[in-house]
Amino acid sequence: MPGATALTLEQLAFDNSFARLDPSFYTRLAPTPLPEPYLVAGSPAAAGLIGLRTEEFRRAEFVETFAGNRALPGFEPLAAVYSGHQFGVWAGQLGDGRALLLGEALGPDGRRWELQLKGSGLTPYSRMGDGRAVLRSSIREFLCSEAMHALGVPTTRALAAIGSDYPVVRETVETAAVVTRMAPSFLRFGNFEHFYYAGRHQELQALADYVIDGFYPGLRDEPQPYAALVREVVERTARLVAHWQALGFCHGVMNTDNMSILGLTIDYGPFGFVDGFAANHVCNHSDSGGRYAYANQPAVGEWNCYCLGQALLPLLGSVEEAESVLSAYRPAFTEEFARHLRAKLGLAEANDADEALFNSLFGILDAGRVDFTRFFRGLSRVRRADASGDAACRDLFIDRAAFDGWVADYRARLRTEALDDASRAARMDRANPKFVLRNHLAETAIQRALARDFSEVERLQAVLSRPYDEQPEMDAYAALPPDWASGLEVSCSS
Ligand code: AMP
Ligand code: MG
Repeated sequence: MPGATALTLEQLAFDNSFARLDPSFYTRLAPTPLPEPYLVAGSPAAAGLIGLRTEEFRRAEFVETFAGNRALPGFEPLAAVYSGHQFGVWAGQLGDGRALLLGEALGPDGRRWELQLKGSGLTPYSRMGDGRAVLRSSIREFLCSEAMHALGVPTTRALAAIGSDYPVVRETVETAAVVTRMAPSFLRFGNFEHFYYAGRHQELQALADYVIDGFYPGLRDEPQPYAALVREVVERTARLVAHWQALGFCHGVMNTDNMSILGLTIDYGPFGFVDGFAANHVCNHSDSGGRYAYANQPAVGEWNCYCLGQALLPLLGSVEEAESVLSAYRPAFTEEFARHLRAKLGLAEANDADEALFNSLFGILDAGRVDFTRFFRGLSRVRRADASGDAACRDLFIDRAAFDGWVADYRARLRTEALDDASRAARMDRANPKFVLRNHLAETAIQRALARDFSEVERLQAVLSRPYDEQPEMDAYAALPPDWASGLEVSCSS
């Protein structure tokens, strides 16, 4: 019998609960074959979740399977239908326009993982699209999914990225790739909106029951399971956005079709980690109005939850019930964001004055366009007694006086705490990553990959799998962005 993480592809077991639902939720169809596919990257950590041996990555059958050219026994491929609000506007029917759920693999721990191809060809929901994804965006999604997990953020995962020289037209002619994503479920707020706005309340309820039974079984015992479901999703969403904010992460397209019903980060397109901090930073070049600017993301998360509440209204007792569960967003966000900031600043105890300390910090980071990741990582060097450890942070400011003013308050605050410098620093280094997927790092790996050299993708993947470890030999990956990085633009084109 194979060990817990030693299965071959053929030994994977599937149990496809979503495919057993009524066909009104999806269309069954096979992926479109991708010519001459090759492995770009595989994630050992993701493979481990389903017990797959990493040696499998090297097999031609692995590449063919996750290019969409070959099915495993147990696959029941399908594209799910959903709708959504895009940039604040009802967009009507969308759906898996280039993704296919292959099946639900059973992990060694009994957990179920949907395996989904992204970029696997046309579906009935492709609208004007070509059903494909390009190598550039596939590498970004692959790397960031796994990096976010390593950072501790709830996220969909990525098993592999497969490339092909098959041409795909975007602003220029690029080449195709397919990412195999994994999540307990890829259901979005938009799946519920789809049936609500179609007036199909029976399907709406069936979908809510599926989610409760599969992913929130504890809620069955609540007096109002559907209200409890909305509350849970609202709280998870609030906590997720708080976590993003604490890491300087921006989701580029927070449309309701990109909001996970499990509170996962989903659909990595034009995302970005802010380098020099700006509260109004917009990571998506296509978002000309700045709807999804860093500082707007908490409010947008709440707005999206209202869309979910609206969609589930037929299952809730009343509008008052809906309002009551939706009101959980703000306190959940505020509490979670403060918890993250206390951890980032190394404060063990909560203090009413901390909000002012946090706000003034964001003010000086914004005014000085100070590098977010390097600042917080450097903050553990600050000492409670004197300024001897200030340089790592202070040197990031042109306006040194702004930093000196803030750090005096911070030092005074540290003196109210019991922790000594060394223990506080060790804790802070688990809250403030040294390594995040900055755009220029992804870009370098992409440029090499376009020349068929995937070693930089692999190196980056390895560095980002331990984002809180010092890894001194990898200092270059924690450096300020080079000058050419300011010219990088990430857009909806993917
Ligand atoms: P996104 O903005 O990537 O979340 O996509 C929004 C909608 O457009 C979803 O229904 C996608 O499946 C669909 N879509 C995006 N790109 C493509 C494409 N190249 N081909 C087909 N559908 C696409
Ligand atoms: Mg999407």
